[in-house]
Amino acid sequence: MQCVNCSGQFLTIKGNLKLKDKILGDFVVPDTTWEQCDTCGHILYTPITMRAIEKTESDRKKQLLLKRPIGDFIPATEVAKILRCSRQAIHKHKRIRRGFIHFVMHNGSYQYLKESVELYNKTGDGRLPLVKPNPQNFIKILAQS
Ligand SMILES: [Zn+2]
Repeated sequence: MQCVNCSGQFLTIKGNLKLKDKILGDFVVPDTTWEQCDTCGHILYTPITMRAIEKTESDRKKQLLLKRPIGDFIPATEVAKILRCSRQAIHKHKRIRRGFIHFVMHNGSYQYLKESVELYNKTGDGRLPLVKPNPQNFIKILAQS
């Protein structure tokens, strides 16, 4: 297959795929495959790559959420009060199910990140970053001010 950017050829690469995400930070999809142009480095994800990325993203999100204190979370009944809808509506809500509010299964029930619910209530998108900004960037910002 020929590259869309240049006349290079795509090669199948096997290895650890490094990704950056504004919600999940830097992470690695271990032991996967993708197509990469041998000339310009343009990357194409195959369906196998996509599934591996989705799985790693969902595991990483869960891991990051479970690191936070349980006091940061509220149950669906509290979410329903904030969003002024029924508890059932929270469970069926398409945008919430798609991850617009961060939630995690904890001791058999869904727990919603309160900060994320409040952000969602204000803006319609509660996907706040789950990693702290890179300390090196932070030092740069401090040096500039
Ligand atoms: Zn190329």
